[in-house]
Amino acid sequence: MHDFMSVNNERHLVMGGCDMAQVAQKYGTPLYVMDENVIRANCRVYKNAIDTCYSGNGLILYASKALCNLETVRIVASEGLGIDVVSGGELYTALRAGMDVSKICMHGNNKTRAELEMAISSGVGRIVVDNLFELDQIDAIAAEHGVRQKVLFRIKPGIDAHTHNFVMTGQIDSRFGFALETGEARAAILRAFKCNSICVAGVHCHIGSQIFEADPFEEAARVLMRFIAEIRDESGVELTELNLGGGFGVVYTPEDDPIEFGDYIEAVSRIVKTAAVEHSLKMPFIMMEPGRSIVAEAGITLYTVGAIKDIPEVRRYVTVDGGIGDNPRYILYGSKYAALIANKADAEVTQSVTIAGKCCESGDLIGENMPLADVSIGDILALLTTGAYNYSMSSNYNRNLRPAMVMVKDGRDRLVMKRETYEDIIRNDV
Ligand SMILES: *Cc1c(COP(=O)(O)O)cnc(C)c1O
Repeated sequence: MHDFMSVNNERHLVMGGCDMAQVAQKYGTPLYVMDENVIRANCRVYKNAIDTCYSGNGLILYASKALCNLETVRIVASEGLGIDVVSGGELYTALRAGMDVSKICMHGNNKTRAELEMAISSGVGRIVVDNLFELDQIDAIAAEHGVRQKVLFRIKPGIDAHTHNFVMTGQIDSRFGFALETGEARAAILRAFKCNSICVAGVHCHIGSQIFEADPFEEAARVLMRFIAEIRDESGVELTELNLGGGFGVVYTPEDDPIEFGDYIEAVSRIVKTAAVEHSLKMPFIMMEPGRSIVAEAGITLYTVGAIKDIPEVRRYVTVDGGIGDNPRYILYGSKYAALIANKADAEVTQSVTIAGKCCESGDLIGENMPLADVSIGDILALLTTGAYNYSMSSNYNRNLRPAMVMVKDGRDRLVMKRETYEDIIRNDV
């Protein structure tokens, strides 16, 4: 378990000062539970790193695709963060939660015209341009609204960051953004300088996710600073904003060993400062876009254990009352998780099991070869590190109801998302 969790006298898992077996009883399962203080602490680590490494000349944008609902947006906003949105739905949520529009950054590799209109008319601070078709649309829509829209350009810096290693590759075969090495990025920016309703503020890159080392981030910063210098040398215009994306790794199982978030930022800031001196550039305004690392570890999913099936010599299936509907990451990526039994949280691991869901899909697994204590029907299983890319990737497959979400803090629990109802399930049926 994570160090902010503990076990009480009844042997129950405690998070945010609340007994998770009791919380499961109170709200039912499956249930997402988030620890508010952990989210806030993560926001502060990033914010403090911007303050200390860049003298506050920067902004942390929470990548809301990791977990997007009103309460999460309110929490990150109250910590002074801005937000990344990649769709009209995320933008709508951010606006309704009261996020300062100037701190909203709109992403997406195929933003629709309606989404661009919504973003520009609501006054979002920045749009990250993915392609030329979109550049022209933004220019036209901004002109209609009589504004100059600030944009960044999404650059493929030619760095392929894998989870445990990274290699420099062409990476031209990425769907996102403009390639550097072909001259595509340079040409796009030079063209944008001529657009009357576009203000080109800077460049952006996002090199991957669940990355455990600082090196790929450092390399990306080096490449983009050099590119800013090249654009200045050619056009005389010095871009002032540098967005280095997200992707910082978190702990799913004890095998994961990421470096501290603040250490990434410090390492990268050294590169940016050195590059600024080397190329005689002013220090740019720095943005970073952590998603997973803000919310993943703060969240758990509570399930009730149902049937336990032994297939002799093969495996033991422990089924739970959720599955790919609330967590499709195993079927999508083979992601690993750690689980424990919330109502006997200190019990020794005695076996290795396959945890399966309740959907009519043989791939509906939470994980295989998962170490677990003795488990019985009716136990509450806590799956750890589900705060990111679980609810946000959830579905109603098999017309299962999406779980509720509870926020815990200082011994108090509160509902932040209701459990869906059968009425919700047929709401859009005609
Ligand atoms: C997904 C994404 C992020 C966040 O990535 P994490 O791994 O969740 O930190 C940031 N920026 C962009 C452009 C993304 O697509």
